[in-house]
Amino acid sequence: DLTQGFTYQGAPSRVLFGVGMLARVAAEIEGMGCKRAFLLSTPFQAADIATLAKEIGPLVAGTFTDAQMHTPVDVTKQALAVFEACGADCIVSMGGGSTIGLGKAIAWRNDAPHLVIATTYAGSEVTDILGQTEGGVKSTVRDLKIRPEVVIYDAALTTGLPIGMSVSSGLNAMAHAIEGLYAPDANPVTSLMAVEGIRALKAALPLIVRTPDDIEARSSALYGSWLCGVVLGSVAMSLHHKLCHTLGGACDLPHAETHAILLPHTAAYNASAAARELSPASALFGGDLSGGLYDLSSDLNAPRALRDLGLDRGALDHVADLAVRNPYSNPRDVTRDGIMGLLLRAYDGTRPE
Ligand code: NAD
Repeated sequence: DLTQGFTYQGAPSRVLFGVGMLARVAAEIEGMGCKRAFLLSTPFQAADIATLAKEIGPLVAGTFTDAQMHTPVDVTKQALAVFEACGADCIVSMGGGSTIGLGKAIAWRNDAPHLVIATTYAGSEVTDILGQTEGGVKSTVRDLKIRPEVVIYDAALTTGLPIGMSVSSGLNAMAHAIEGLYAPDANPVTSLMAVEGIRALKAALPLIVRTPDDIEARSSALYGSWLCGVVLGSVAMSLHHKLCHTLGGACDLPHAETHAILLPHTAAYNASAAARELSPASALFGGDLSGGLYDLSSDLNAPRALRDLGLDRGALDHVADLAVRNPYSNPRDVTRDGIMGLLLRAYDGTRPE
């Protein structure tokens, strides 16, 4: 309803999108006014970083290939020490949310310019959100200093993202968009991005499962994940993200898989209360968003049951307690009984009704 009015805050990142865009890294480092880059990756992508370092030779001050999931503060401190010792003046993160999280953690502390080459669909590269863990506790900070200055999306770098990870990460991206549609601060621009992001991912993921190196499908998925990431970084998230955060923190579950499993169930929980806001997404799934998401997951052979992640059923009570402890905005009231029912269905992996 446009008569209600809204606030729209554009995200200031510079985005380069396209196959072969990796070749622009050197020019973009110079464009940020920098000469000495600190390259980051996980151990799994260390070889990719070594190749990049060779290509941009004199612009490299140092590398750090030990980024880890959930951004442990002790790893950030080690990386910061290397950054300072090698006299770097900017950060280049190549990878998914784990590597980008480390780059953000450094940039938040020393305000170094940050260029991200995003290779999963998690969307962290376009948000000003940093989640980090210390002493087993994960906390979140939001600060404009955290949003990376430049983002490169090159689908050629994503053809090697394993199928299972591609699917879970794509559903993780869709979750940002679905919650963005019913966000209390949603606006027509973020809602357009959300629906287009869901559409692109929904079309691309089945093609990727069949042909992982289909560059058009990979480009479409990366495009969708960018849009979904912008939604995540622009409006408030509700039940789905809070529950995934609680489950991830309390039970140490893997990020993308947890999002993938919960999404049909959180969509079902809010379906009636947010029917109007969700209607453009429901239309993409033949009018039944939660059932359609579940069937898509099933077709993609995505994880569908929390039980399959090795979670103990007994942990659900504690998660339900934690989930209702701090109130937040959500289309439907978040009650302990409601959450317990949702968690039990997600645990067993039953199709939402
Ligand atoms: P990830 O970054 O942990 O990546 C998983 C594994 O896949 C890693 O070993 C990685 O090196 C590898 N990989 C990544 N891209 C690849 C590619 N193209 N080819 C081959 N291997 C590749 O996974 P993720 O789901 O992207 O990130 C999860 C983390 O990001 C969590 O800690 C989560 O909390 C955080 N996150 C933060 C935000 C935010 O806005 N702050 C948003 C989303 C996720």
